[in-house]
Amino acid sequence: MSGWDLIVIGGGAAGLWGAGTAAQKGLKVLVLEKNNKAGPKILMSGGTRCNITHDCDWRQIVEAFGREGRFLSSALNYLPPVEVIRTIEAEGVATKREVTGKIFPVSDRAMDVRDALVRRLTNAGAELRTGVAVKDIARDEASGEFQIKTDFESYTSHKLLVCTGGLSYPGCGTTGDGYPWLQKLGHTVTPLRPALTPLVSSIPWLTDLQGITIPDASVTVELLNGSTDGKDSKKKDPRLSSRGGLLWTHFGLSGPAPMNVSRAVSDLPAGHHSSLHIDLLPDSKPDDLQQWFQKATQTGSRNISNVLSELVPKRIAQILLEISQVVPEKPLAEVSKKNRNDLVERIKNFVVPLHGTRGYMKAEVTAGGVVLSEVNPHTMESKLVPGLFLAGEILNLDGPIGGFNFQAAFSTGHLAGMSM
Ligand SMILES: Cc1cc2nc3c(=O)[nH]c(=O)nc-3n(C[C@H](O)[C@H](O)[C@H](O)COP(=O)(O)OP(=O)(O)OC[C@H]3O[C@@H](n4cnc5c(N)ncnc54)[C@H](O)[C@@H]3O)c2cc1C
Repeated sequence: MSGWDLIVIGGGAAGLWGAGTAAQKGLKVLVLEKNNKAGPKILMSGGTRCNITHDCDWRQIVEAFGREGRFLSSALNYLPPVEVIRTIEAEGVATKREVTGKIFPVSDRAMDVRDALVRRLTNAGAELRTGVAVKDIARDEASGEFQIKTDFESYTSHKLLVCTGGLSYPGCGTTGDGYPWLQKLGHTVTPLRPALTPLVSSIPWLTDLQGITIPDASVTVELLNGSTDGKDSKKKDPRLSSRGGLLWTHFGLSGPAPMNVSRAVSDLPAGHHSSLHIDLLPDSKPDDLQQWFQKATQTGSRNISNVLSELVPKRIAQILLEISQVVPEKPLAEVSKKNRNDLVERIKNFVVPLHGTRGYMKAEVTAGGVVLSEVNPHTMESKLVPGLFLAGEILNLDGPIGGFNFQAAFSTGHLAGMSM
């Protein structure tokens, strides 16, 4: 069938938003989604609660995306977080802000957000076809039209918006289909790697810590190259550090703080090693902790294990004592100054050697993608192929946990839809 003004490939966050915007402008829009239902990742996001965006201004979103963030300025200007919230609410989905700044639907149902985006596009006259996997795309040089091939039929359109996402959670349909199509049309794709994925370690005491949550830890990845001289320039990258919740698991570390820094670990070539440096009490200075120990010595004759367990979870206290070779039953007053210094040092810098990440199977996003300099940041149109637009995770953009990735997908999808 021919005659579409715009075909959107991928009915995820960027595609659904972009299709709605373009249809509101009066374009005849068709969305093709591989899955039997639209927005599979929206449905599973935020533990099925969908962390829609973050309560901040557009500059903080730009910063959160590191070096590549500036590319988002224009898109965020047109659709900042406050506009995402307004649009979702206008579709009848009330939102709430949690203490972390994350925005969720009041209902805690990701399905409500997905339904709102589908409603927005269908009310504007766009058509959504699910269960249709695109196999290939081509552009007719003479007419400038795009041909979109599926297993059953071919479609043509004047404009094409590719929003096929990345490689993470491939079971969702995101198997990187868009990359080779775009490479064939002349685009460059940077090396790809999993991001926002749990970290793997094989330290022997991991099973003892399994299930422990630390609500507020500060973590930094240290990258050591083959010669372990520690002079890797990536050490200076602010995205190697993160602060937030941390969960010990049977395989290593999960939770927002470790996952936020995972992009650096999955980037490591063979022979490189890394470790996670955890500050278990980021609000306390070493001197504060020394003084705290001093005061505790004067108040009663408790043993070191009980005292330490007031600062950190009991099982972590036990590991710290084991590593520092201090007998847990020892009365605090009898613990040497050297041992106390050692314990403070380990609370502030608990080192966990890493052996990699859980990869794409458990990654929330893909780092890397279509090179940003090949896409016009003011329109999301390809600089190489007229009429071709790109949005969402397929671009070389990945942000931290907290609603930043949906915000980038919505804003780039919106700008693409506006610019046609
Ligand atoms: C478990 C999990 C939880 C997450 N939670 C959050 C969160 O709470 N907040 C947040 O901001 N981000 C979250 N993310 C990240 C967020 O889901 C992505 O950043 C976002 O969905 C990217 O949007 P997108 O439109 O680019 O890609 P996607 O939403 O992945 O959409 C791409 C779509 O394209 C379709 N597709 C692919 N190939 C084809 C083809 N050949 N033909 C037709 N269709 C195709 C796919 O089926 C898919 O539906 C989470 C991710 C995961 C995996």
